[in-house]
Amino acid sequence: MQFPIFKTKIEGLDKKFNLTNPEEQKEYFQLKAGKEIEKLKEYLKENTFVAYLLGKKNSGKGTYSKMFAEVTLPERVDHFSIGDMVRGTDVELADPEKKKELIKYLEKNYRGRLSLDEIIQDLENRDTKTLRPTELILALVKREMERREKKSLFIDGFPRNLDQVDFSLFFRDLIGHRDDPDVFILIDVPEKVIDERIKWRRICPICQTSRNLKLLPTSRVGYDGDKKEFYLICDNPSCQGAKMIKKEGDELGVEPIRERLKMDGKLIEMTFSLYGIPKILLRNSLPLKDANNFVDDYEITPEYIFEWLDAEKRVKIKEKPWQVLDDEGIPSLSLLPQPVVVSMIKQMVDVLGL
Ligand SMILES: [Zn+2]
Repeated sequence: MQFPIFKTKIEGLDKKFNLTNPEEQKEYFQLKAGKEIEKLKEYLKENTFVAYLLGKKNSGKGTYSKMFAEVTLPERVDHFSIGDMVRGTDVELADPEKKKELIKYLEKNYRGRLSLDEIIQDLENRDTKTLRPTELILALVKREMERREKKSLFIDGFPRNLDQVDFSLFFRDLIGHRDDPDVFILIDVPEKVIDERIKWRRICPICQTSRNLKLLPTSRVGYDGDKKEFYLICDNPSCQGAKMIKKEGDELGVEPIRERLKMDGKLIEMTFSLYGIPKILLRNSLPLKDANNFVDDYEITPEYIFEWLDAEKRVKIKEKPWQVLDDEGIPSLSLLPQPVVVSMIKQMVDVLGL
């Protein structure tokens, strides 16, 4: 399985952008995909699509689809994850009014092997280890789609296993009331990237913002002289300089989720070989040797290196292109979300025939 490398470099264009700056990011998208963004805005005003996001855990599914919405027509594009949806039913079941509504909806829309009573009991036990029956997921996804009638949707986490792939192929027909285009969005990310994203992840204990000590620091970095450790300081003014912390187990990286990643990988491979349904292929990385021809330097994820200057009592921050080995062991560079979204926008225009 090999995804093509998408070229975002425009020959003869030397302007550099700082993609962390919102104004410059806007200008960047105009320059690299302005025509396509206009087409999509026009399309989204009157039409919708359903996109199934397939990528390994932590591959950036949420980041890409939210950024896509942001640069096109945010009020007409929505993203929802099956995980959040299932957790949402926990909240509903705790509230008698909402529970009644949920049961009423399921009585009308659920069909399956387990009785509705069994399903509700199963939900109330909050046993997060067992997967919810596919038939229940189908009914709940249908409800989420009905709630967002006029919106284009990115669905994250469905299909979840190989059986559900067949359902997703005909889901549009199954639920009947929408005949808008559907598309699979496949995301290819080296496991090493996922590993480092988890290992260096830091969370604000107050606002729960998540950043990365190595790949996505905050604007202020501190140094703990006793532990000889650098730490991030939350940028959110209401957190008053809170020190961001490591979540327990994060230092293990992908180890605890290895099985899950394997399953996700199988799903991507299976959907990659499907016929009939359009596919958008997104690559997070590209071989080092191709970088110069395909992308601009500022589109590459940097790695941040810190140094404590004892005399000046401050942290010196340096950055350099972050080099990783991809799953085939090829020295590669990881792309920032923006160029990946440029490729997503252009492929979406093709899929929709705009
Ligand atoms: Zn915070």
